[in-house]
Amino acid sequence: MIERRPLLAALLATAISPTMARCAAPPRGTVAIIGAGMAGLAAAVDLRAAGFGVIILEARDRIGGRIHTSHAWPDLPIDLGASWIHGTKGNPVTALAKAAGAATVTTSYDSAALHVDPALAALGVDDAAEDEMEALFTRAMRRAGRHGTDMSVQDAIEAFAATLSPARRAQLDFYLSSQYEQEYGGGTTHLSARTIDDNDVFPGEDALFPGGYEQITRHLAKGLDIRLGKVVTRVRREPGQVRISLQDGTELTAEHLLVTAPLGVLKSGSIAFDPPLPPAKQQAIDRLGMGLLNKHWLRFDRIFWPKEFDWHEYLSAEKGRWSEWVSLAKVDDAPVLLVFSAAERASRVEAMSDAEIVRDAMQVVRTMFGPDAPDPVAAQITRWSADPFARGSYSFNAVGSSNADREALAENDTGRLHFAGEALNALYPGTVHGALLSGRRAARTIIKDKTPHD
Ligand SMILES: Cc1cc2nc3c(=O)[nH]c(=O)nc-3n(C[C@H](O)[C@H](O)[C@H](O)COP(=O)(O)OP(=O)(O)OC[C@H]3O[C@@H](n4cnc5c(N)ncnc54)[C@H](O)[C@@H]3O)c2cc1C
Repeated sequence: MIERRPLLAALLATAISPTMARCAAPPRGTVAIIGAGMAGLAAAVDLRAAGFGVIILEARDRIGGRIHTSHAWPDLPIDLGASWIHGTKGNPVTALAKAAGAATVTTSYDSAALHVDPALAALGVDDAAEDEMEALFTRAMRRAGRHGTDMSVQDAIEAFAATLSPARRAQLDFYLSSQYEQEYGGGTTHLSARTIDDNDVFPGEDALFPGGYEQITRHLAKGLDIRLGKVVTRVRREPGQVRISLQDGTELTAEHLLVTAPLGVLKSGSIAFDPPLPPAKQQAIDRLGMGLLNKHWLRFDRIFWPKEFDWHEYLSAEKGRWSEWVSLAKVDDAPVLLVFSAAERASRVEAMSDAEIVRDAMQVVRTMFGPDAPDPVAAQITRWSADPFARGSYSFNAVGSSNADREALAENDTGRLHFAGEALNALYPGTVHGALLSGRRAARTIIKDKTPHD
């Protein structure tokens, strides 16, 4: 499936062995990369073009990392990780999609229907509340920004929420959950009020890949030396090289190592660094938050809901309970609904069985679309926090952290050891394009590096 580069045939022939000989050394030395996700693949392409030998060590039996297209439904590829190019104008993923010949379709948040829990409807919930909530949120975050120390979004907002009616309170919870918890994967009690929204977006539409996001990672992976099932457990900086130990007891060395393991993996300590990472890097790992967003894909025997909307939103009495739904009826003519869970609620949902999750979500489907809605014929459900090679979905600015932490992680202060990944991109964290640009930045650093280090 993954073509291998002829120049590295000799390296491959030796495979990874306790005393891996480096024959036919590439002109600029070898760079080992931990992780065949977007950051690792993007860096590998640039490093190879600059004359480095590149070996990617990937723990899983597949490439893509948090880009994962499932083929469990052979006629309908489903993305269990990233789905969208967020903002297609000027986005480097748009250019890649074109190069890969991957078709896209656009969805719009403006194409949304709001459904209200009947108990809340009786309290007088209305559509005008969104602007009111946004204004309240902006005031609260501004005031929190002037406070001496950082605080959580929830603490910042409580001062302004005390006098809200029960209906407005439910609408505030809906706003916080759908706009912030689903976006960042962190709960409002953990999200930093001072640095919330301290990132950038590309303009343009949001586009999905009906054929799966993996078309992009497969395109990048062409001709790269990617070794699957290689779990890195230890990284040791030595004079002139980095020594990498794998779970299977083997080792290899390389002139440079680029680590693109997710923040959640770095937090877990499952990769040991010797000598330990500088304090600024370790503190950044500890301070930043790893968020959780899970996807629950429900497939039905027919489309029984209004086809004209991309999104259906459910204003629940319980914060964030099955509140954001995407319909594939309009863009793909498919009888499929996708519903998300985020933050603390997602952790609770992860502990439920698939059958319990579907049963619970179907209560909301029947509230939105009527009691005769049939059960799904199949479901696909993610549990990203239980995934040992992700340990969460993407990074967020937790209370006390800031983009300076992302920069500290990206800083080239560990000689031949480098880092990349979505969490290191201060402008576009938590996205595919953020990971891609971070990988390219790390490649540039390695390409320019002329320091002796040892
Ligand atoms: C549910 C979900 C929905 C998302 N939706 C979107 C979206 O619509 N649009 C968007 O732009 N972004 C989205 N994202 C975010 C996006 O997927 C990520 O930001 C991006 O893919 C991260 O790329 P990366 O290279 O930094 O990390 P990863 O893709 O996680 O790559 C890191 C790689 O390192 C490997 N690894 C980990 N530990 C080890 C080890 N010890 N040894 C060897 N290998 C190891 C992993 O297996 C993985 O392949 C979503 C993410 C999730 C989870």
